[in-house]
Amino acid sequence: MRLLRRAALVLALLLSALLAWVLVQAQRHPDLPAEPAAWMPAAPAGSAGLRVRFVGVATLLFDDGETAWMSDGFFSRPGKLAMAFSRLEPDRAEIDKALRKLGVSRLAAVVPLHSHYDHAMDAPVVAERTGAQLVGSSSTLMVGRGLGLPARQMREVKDGDVVQLGRFRLTFLESRHSPTLWTAADAPSEHITEPVVPPAHASAYKEGAVWSLLVEHDGRSLLVQGSAGYLPGLLQGRRADTVLLGVGTLGRKSPQYIDAYWRETVSLPGARRVIPIHWDDFWRPLDAPLQAMPLLFDDFAATWAALRERGARDGVEVKLPPLWLPIDPFASPAGTTAH
Ligand SMILES: [Zn+2]
Repeated sequence: MRLLRRAALVLALLLSALLAWVLVQAQRHPDLPAEPAAWMPAAPAGSAGLRVRFVGVATLLFDDGETAWMSDGFFSRPGKLAMAFSRLEPDRAEIDKALRKLGVSRLAAVVPLHSHYDHAMDAPVVAERTGAQLVGSSSTLMVGRGLGLPARQMREVKDGDVVQLGRFRLTFLESRHSPTLWTAADAPSEHITEPVVPPAHASAYKEGAVWSLLVEHDGRSLLVQGSAGYLPGLLQGRRADTVLLGVGTLGRKSPQYIDAYWRETVSLPGARRVIPIHWDDFWRPLDAPLQAMPLLFDDFAATWAALRERGARDGVEVKLPPLWLPIDPFASPAGTTAH
């Protein structure tokens, strides 16, 4: 009897230690690089050309002075307790605040890179506010329907489709999501088949098609990779000067996986610059400076070291995007515009 009681006590102690560890790791954020050289410089004010602004996760605003469009458009960023235990809905006040801060009133399109809530949840509201077309997979359009976005404001795309937005040419290539506990590497994507009417649980926002989005503009090209997954050979014969590279969960992957991801998304399209995205803790609001994902879920320091090492080996510049500020994705490494 005494032995049993002692065993129960030990078990209880172990469980509380585990719980304490989880709670601490969920709050610990690896440091972001402090040196200015690790970050893309802001483009000089008033300079012309294609500009990209990073607004956390995989939300990017593209603007060439004539046409503006956005990937994802995710600004609500509900906290992790809300994500785990309650239903989610777009936060219109946060969305409006972000659009105001970006100076955005009209957009040609908003393009979710897949349909998980941290990519697609707010996009229909962004479309509603800016007159944009919601462009995405059938799953993404179900998110639009759930918010009552009219059919004329939605455009479904499939693998290989091309969408022209002013001088931007977008090619949608269906890739894979980063393997996680709930998305295996080779499992087929789960699709949304009914309109998602918020408030809805995070799990209602199923993955849908996961895009490798090739963006060509005035003879230059960008690859936007929203999730750290790949389909071998997908980018064979494609060119991208710069990759906006989704790195969420990469810090927990094997060196072999990181090698394959780098090869497929950076080496294969011949990129000379990598700008990591999807590294921030998206359970925190955009008001505060961004922090890396908590250590419980990812290890940004490991990601950063792995990318820098491969970049140095292959002569590929790796720099982080500053929050809100316009950057020139094709700027020469010295920071002056290359064209
Ligand atoms: Zn996802």
